[in-house]
Amino acid sequence: MKDLGIILGIRPDVIRACKIIKLLSENKNITYDFIWSGQHYSENMKDVFFKQLNVPKPDVEFEIDTTNDASTVSSVIKNTFNHLENNKYQAVVFLGDTNTVMGSIGAAQHNIPIVHIEGCMRSYDWRMPEEKYRKTIDHLSDRIYAYLDSYKTQGLNEGISEDIIKVTGNPIVDIIQENQNIFDSGHQSLDNNVLNFIRKNEFLLATSHRRENILNIDSLNNIVNLFNSSDMKIVFPAGYKTQEMLKSYDLKLNSNVLMIDPLGYLEFMYLLKNSTFVMSDSGTVVEEACIMNVPSIQMRYSTERPEVYDVNASIKFDPSEKISDFQGYIDKAIKLVDTKWAQPFGDGKASDNIVEDLIELSESNSFYKHNKENYPFDISNSFKE
Ligand code: UDP
Repeated sequence: MKDLGIILGIRPDVIRACKIIKLLSENKNITYDFIWSGQHYSENMKDVFFKQLNVPKPDVEFEIDTTNDASTVSSVIKNTFNHLENNKYQAVVFLGDTNTVMGSIGAAQHNIPIVHIEGCMRSYDWRMPEEKYRKTIDHLSDRIYAYLDSYKTQGLNEGISEDIIKVTGNPIVDIIQENQNIFDSGHQSLDNNVLNFIRKNEFLLATSHRRENILNIDSLNNIVNLFNSSDMKIVFPAGYKTQEMLKSYDLKLNSNVLMIDPLGYLEFMYLLKNSTFVMSDSGTVVEEACIMNVPSIQMRYSTERPEVYDVNASIKFDPSEKISDFQGYIDKAIKLVDTKWAQPFGDGKASDNIVEDLIELSESNSFYKHNKENYPFDISNSFKE
């Protein structure tokens, strides 16, 4: 029996958890399997991050059906359940609020303790499937790593036991601190069309992938109008679904916008570091911009990361509203350009804090929320009617 099964599955998981995986791999006091759920699978949504951040390859890769959210979630649950029938762990670790974390139901069916990294974040917006996912996994968990005290308070307010929530800081700070000296190397592998486009010009960086933005023509149209209203150049590494939806809605970007395929981490962070400001609906990108002291326009109607507004690092742009003055948002972001703020996400020790706690819990065999004796039966059988 190994101590941990760690199940990750999307681009930002590799980035955010890379130090946690490295620390675990270097430590002889803990054993683990790193399992890839298969939610992201393309070279530039997955493999490039393993290479650039030197993350050890997964020990196990599920083969799942990613046709839609239901098939993705149900096949991650099924694969998790089946894997746990043959592989025993003290605990199974998940991160975030994705389709992959719903695999935790497969671990719950085996009564194997669940660990949730990025616990107790809340947007208080019940229209987001991600809000439903994070609430579900938090309430299934035996151990929660919350990045900030305020997230812990949110968990306590829902009746989650104080004993199981540990505040760690946000590991994205650790990743930026460890890698910022190599962000400039991202320049070398950017295509000439990007380099020529930004040469000698100030530029903005944009991303958009959230379902509520790209699957709704009015919201996506607002995003296109925001980009088109800027007289600055914009580099726009767009997810594949975003590219598909722009085409199918026949929405046209002006020539100030260069839309390209998703980039590797170093190329992306090189652009982020050198951009005037960022426009994004990504959870991680607005954190990264805030940490790098780059202003952002957060293109979301709700967020589980209000800290970027609290420190005045970000402007809210709600694509679901009726908007007439697009230029007004650009002007507000430009006003933030020479301002400074203290990033609110932690001191760069989050990965160490998480790994230290995982080792302590595995050495004392105490992942169970309640005494292990309260789980006297092995329920890992399949029942029929
Ligand atoms: N990122 C990247 N290449 C890109 C766009 C983003 O490497 O073309 C990185 C970015 O630095 C951040 C993460 O991917 O660390 C964000 O992923 P995404 O926006 O897909 O996910 P979210 O954070 O919204 O879950």
